[in-house]
Amino acid sequence: MKKVRTNTYSIFVSFLAAVMILTGLFASPAQAEAASATRQKITLASGYVSATELYIIDSGKPGPVVMIVGGVHGNEKAGYQAAGKYSNLQIKKGKLLVLPQANKRAVNANRRAAVGGSDLNRSFPQSSKGNASTNIARDIYKTVKDNKVDWLMDMHEGFDYYKNPKTSSVGQTLIYYPSTAMTPMARQIVNNLNKKITKSNQKFTLLKYPVKGSLTRSSAQFLKVNAFIFETSQKQTLKTRVNQQCQAADTLLKQLGMI
Ligand SMILES: [Zn+2]
Repeated sequence: MKKVRTNTYSIFVSFLAAVMILTGLFASPAQAEAASATRQKITLASGYVSATELYIIDSGKPGPVVMIVGGVHGNEKAGYQAAGKYSNLQIKKGKLLVLPQANKRAVNANRRAAVGGSDLNRSFPQSSKGNASTNIARDIYKTVKDNKVDWLMDMHEGFDYYKNPKTSSVGQTLIYYPSTAMTPMARQIVNNLNKKITKSNQKFTLLKYPVKGSLTRSSAQFLKVNAFIFETSQKQTLKTRVNQQCQAADTLLKQLGMI
């Protein structure tokens, strides 16, 4: 009786050992790499009233570093709602940084800028050695620099259509800082969107350059980031605007092979 039990036990142990060895041998490289994937949530401007969350999704595989930003202007809802949808995305390669509510106080107040605060999109360095003018702008700019961001999409909205000559709104535009990689990508994004838009006054227009002091302008000009502002028009429903923001971001991420 005792002998049988010992045999059963040793067979079981050998079986376990075999399973462990085989699992190790046949683990695919994808599984091995997935183990190094990380997700982080950190706070920018920590300790200040402008504190806000940044999500860092690292696939653990080499690839582009992309940053998606919303809520630079707190009354441009589609921007921060669309950006928020990317904070938990699965990516195939590279790294994705998502800052859904860049100006959180302004978002909470539903205002372009917080009461008593400055316009965040005029707060970034205006020369290569210049400094950002607020704590939150400084931390955002440092994030772009430290993470060596390759692509930056900043989600905004205009109150009307750019194609309405009676107003000066930039709604339905993509405003980019030209570069070898940025220019064809900007065209691709706008072409994809315009295919689905029938009314000519609602189609997207390509514009350059982002205004001085904006996150995209400073990142492109001084940190060599491929950066653009994407503006939907608030004349459309919120659902349409959020969808258009996401379509643009998806085109970017697909072109880069990240989704
Ligand atoms: Zn804006």
